[in-house]
Formats: sequence, structure tokens, C-alpha cells
Amino acid sequence: MKHDPLHLSERVKKILNRLTVLLFHGVLTIAIVSEILLDRSFYSTSDVMGILVIVILFGVFGVIRYLDLYKVNNHPILYLTVYHIVFAVGFGAFSPAYTPYLFIWLILLYIVNYYYGKQGFILSSSVLFLTLLGASFRLLTNTSSPIEYIQFIGVQFGAILIIGLFFLETEAVGDKDRRLLLGSMDKAQLERQRLMSLINSMGDGVISTDERGVIKLYNASALNILDTNGTLDDRNIRDVMAVIDQSAKVIDLIAEVAEKNTNMISTDHLLVYPDGEKINLYLNISPIKLSFQQNIERGYIISFRDITHEKSLEEERNEFISVVSHELRTPIAITEANISNAQFIVEKGNNLSAVKTSLDAAHKQALFLANMINDLSTLSRAERGKLDMKTELIDPREIMKSLEEDYTEQAKSKGLELFTDIDDSTPVSITSNRLYIREILQNFITNSVKYTKQGSVTILLSGKDGGIEFAVRDTGIGISKSDQKRVFDKFFRSEDFRTRESSGTGLGLYVTKKLMRLINATATVKSKLNEGSTFTVLIPNLDPEKK
Ligand code: ADP
Repeated sequence: MKHDPLHLSERVKKILNRLTVLLFHGVLTIAIVSEILLDRSFYSTSDVMGILVIVILFGVFGVIRYLDLYKVNNHPILYLTVYHIVFAVGFGAFSPAYTPYLFIWLILLYIVNYYYGKQGFILSSSVLFLTLLGASFRLLTNTSSPIEYIQFIGVQFGAILIIGLFFLETEAVGDKDRRLLLGSMDKAQLERQRLMSLINSMGDGVISTDERGVIKLYNASALNILDTNGTLDDRNIRDVMAVIDQSAKVIDLIAEVAEKNTNMISTDHLLVYPDGEKINLYLNISPIKLSFQQNIERGYIISFRDITHEKSLEEERNEFISVVSHELRTPIAITEANISNAQFIVEKGNNLSAVKTSLDAAHKQALFLANMINDLSTLSRAERGKLDMKTELIDPREIMKSLEEDYTEQAKSKGLELFTDIDDSTPVSITSNRLYIREILQNFITNSVKYTKQGSVTILLSGKDGGIEFAVRDTGIGISKSDQKRVFDKFFRSEDFRTRESSGTGLGLYVTKKLMRLINATATVKSKLNEGSTFTVLIPNLDPEKK
């Protein structure tokens, strides 16, 4: 239920109602009875009887209203009609010419106006007018002049009407103020609601505290990040949010910001959970600044989010750059040394064969660098690949054919045979990315050719789980059990001297792993030292209908 401080509660209303009834009926009854007793000579016996009947009726009705029998108080039209009849008959038939009791009618005008507005007011004053008209016939004699009628009716009616209107006007002004106040309270409530839904829809945690750090407001994300579902109301921020810096020193956020009196933004703080787990935080703490001399409590707004993932990506990137630059340094140094050596030999005489040896060595390193740059660019493409990867309908047999064409010569030049085998289970087509499949297989085949001294390289193709499976099998140097686990790591090259006989960057299979992730492919390695290796890749059909 909406809480409205300006609306009285039902209970209070009832009590006030009873008190009014008691006062209205009680005081009026006592006043009329004592008036008759005091001024006994003025009233005839029949008048007294008539008045008594009215007073008794009025009293009985008072009891009914006091006890709220038949829910009479819920029907103002009912009791207002009764009052009008009682007063009209009472004043019309029994009152003296000028009586202050007539001003009782002001109460009727007030209540009628309250419930029925202007129309009620006009109706009630018309009844008053008729009552006075009736009384005038009773009280004035045949010889009375119109002036006397006007005096009798006009003065009393006019006085009551003017006072009534005056009160109503004053009441209307108060009512307007009250309505304005209620309106602006509603507006404030609406603003607050709007603000609450705004901060609740935010992904960042938001907490607002007072000057001492006592939490006054927070959103759902704050609870989420702090990993609690209890209320934070009136708890101190220091108790619910344990923040440390890089050197594990506990930080009092409020004190730091209070000291500087300006907002603090940081990505170097960590949030520590009760179980000791830590996450990296983006933190923004701003003091609430109020305009000059505003006497409202100040405080702080703290917004924060978990940036552990971004942080680890950043760290990985930094590490990668340092490893790449390290890997590049050696070949560049060798290239440079060999070229300057060649220059030196040329200056000293013309030992052409020594120059050639140096240039060959430099050329080899330059080729290595070109390879590495190639791998790095494929890698960066694979990292971005998810964004622009297109799937298409591809023919596995066609891929097999083009690989065979490309690598037969290369294998032959090393004295190796290249075999292909396509199983009948191979589907006619699948949905995937042709370029990525080719790059993956190229890496496997190049390695097989590179790390095999004699024998053969066989490419096998079959259908599996709605997709296809390629296997590249060689009769090469093989990979030890422990190395098998690491071949897909970046910059990994086996320590085996036979591996080191041929150049390589250690990035080929790492790139392959990234590419496989893009097309949801998975690879397995089977190998035995000195016997050979088989790299198998399962490529699923990415057509959603075939899944
Ligand atoms: P590289 O440029 O060194 O070939 P890769 O990432 O392609 O880098 O391969 C990583 C390492 O895995 C190689 O250095 C080699 O030790 C091992 N390896 C990969 N394929 C084979 C294979 N067919 N036979 C033997 N060793 C292999």
C-alpha cells in the first residue's frame, strides 16, 4: 500500500468521527434543553413538546451515528438529509425570530460542501432560505412590511451565507496547498522509483553511502559482485567490501576519497571474499557534491565491476608480446651478424664462397622471420576470426584433392611418399569454413613432411558424427609422451635434436588450436618416438539443421 503521511489512517478517522458526533449531538441537545428550561415563558407547551420530539429524534440519531449502526456514517447523503430535515423543522416551526443557534447551519454547509462541492452548498443554503421563509410566516404578522421580511430573512440568511463562503474560500486555499504538496511528494516518489530502476538495470555494482560509509542505497549488481544476498542497508562499506591494493595492503576507500575530496578511479584494486578468493575491480568512488550551503547529509557513490577477465587478457597479451620480441631477437641478430660478416669479407678481398656461406645463413634466418610473421598474422586473424567467420557448404573430397596436389611435390623432394585415403563414410558436403580447414591441415602436413626423414605421409578422410575427420599420419621421428601434451602450446618446440635440425617457430600448432576453436573442431595426437605420429582432427557440421 502506498504510504501517504497526509492521509489519516482509518482508525484515527473513526475516532475523530465519533468525537464530532458526540460533540455535535451532545452540546446541541444540552444547549436546546437548557435554553427551554431557562426561557420557559417564551415557549408554549405545544412548542416544548414539539421541540422535545425533535431533540429526542436528534439524540437517537446521534446514538445511531456514534455506534455507526447500519453503517450510516458511510452514507453522508443519508445523515445530511436527516440533519437538514431536523434543523428545517426545528427552526421553521419552533425557533424564536433571531436565534444564534441558526449558525449551526454553518456546520451543515461545511459538510455538504466537503462531500458534494458547490452544488451541495447551493442546495443546503436553499433549504436554509426556505426554512427562514417558513419561520417568517409564523413569526411575522399580517401587518409586517416587506422591509421586515427582508430584515428577518435577508440578514440571517446573508450572515450565514457570507461566513460560510468565507470559510470555504479559506479551506479551498488550504486544500490547494495540500494537493500541491501531495503532488510534489508523488513526483519525488516517481523520481526515486525511476532512479532505482535505472541503477538496478546497471551491470556495474552501485552503492551509495553517507559520510561515515554507512550504506544507504545499493543495486542488485552490487549484491551480485559482493556475492551476498543479505541486506546491505545501514551496514558500513568497510565491513561488506574488503579491498586491497597490489601489495595486499587493506584500503579504506572512504578515507582515501575523503582526504583528496575528489573522485578516485582505479583498476589496480582487488576485492577479497571471505573465503580468500580475489577478483580485480574497476572502482569509481565519487564524493556527493552539493551546492553551497545545502544542509543535506553528504556521502559517496561507489561503482564497481569485476575486471578479472580483462586483466588476465591484458596480462596474457603483455606476456605474448615479450615472448614474441624475445623470439624475434635471435634470428634478427644472426641475420645482422651474417650480413655484416659478408660485407667485411667483401671489403677484405673477394672470397666468394665465404660471402655465400654468410648470406645463406642470413637468408635462412630471413626465411624463418618471414615464417614467423606469417604465423603471427594468421594468429591475429584467428583471434579476431570469431567476428567475421563465414560458414559455407564445402566438399571434403575437393579439399583432399587440392592438398594432395599442393604437397605431393614437396614430399617427393624430401624422398617421401604422399598417400591419401577417402573412406566411403565421408559426406558429400558439410557446412564449415574452407580456409580454416585448409590452414589446419596444412600445418599438420608441413610438420609431418618436416619431421619425417623417410617413409610416407598419409592423409585419411572419413565421416564422423555428421561431420568429417581428417588424419595426417607420418612415419617420422615421433613425439615423446610428455611433449605430446605441449605441442599445441605457443612457442613450444621439442628439445629433440632432430626437431632442431629443421627450423620452426613453435607457433604453427598454437595457431592451429585457435583456428580449430573457431570451427568447433577438436584434435588428438597419437605418436610413438621413432615410429611416427598421427594428428587427427574432427570437424563438425556447423549447419544447425544437421545437428
Ligand atoms: P614448429 O614451427 O616448431 O613446427 P609447431 O607448433 O608446428 O611448431 O610444432 C610444435 C612442435 O611439435 C614441433 O617443434 C615438434 O617438436 C612437434 N611436432 C609437431 N608435429 C610433429 C610431427 N609430425 N612429428 C614430430 N614432431 C612434431
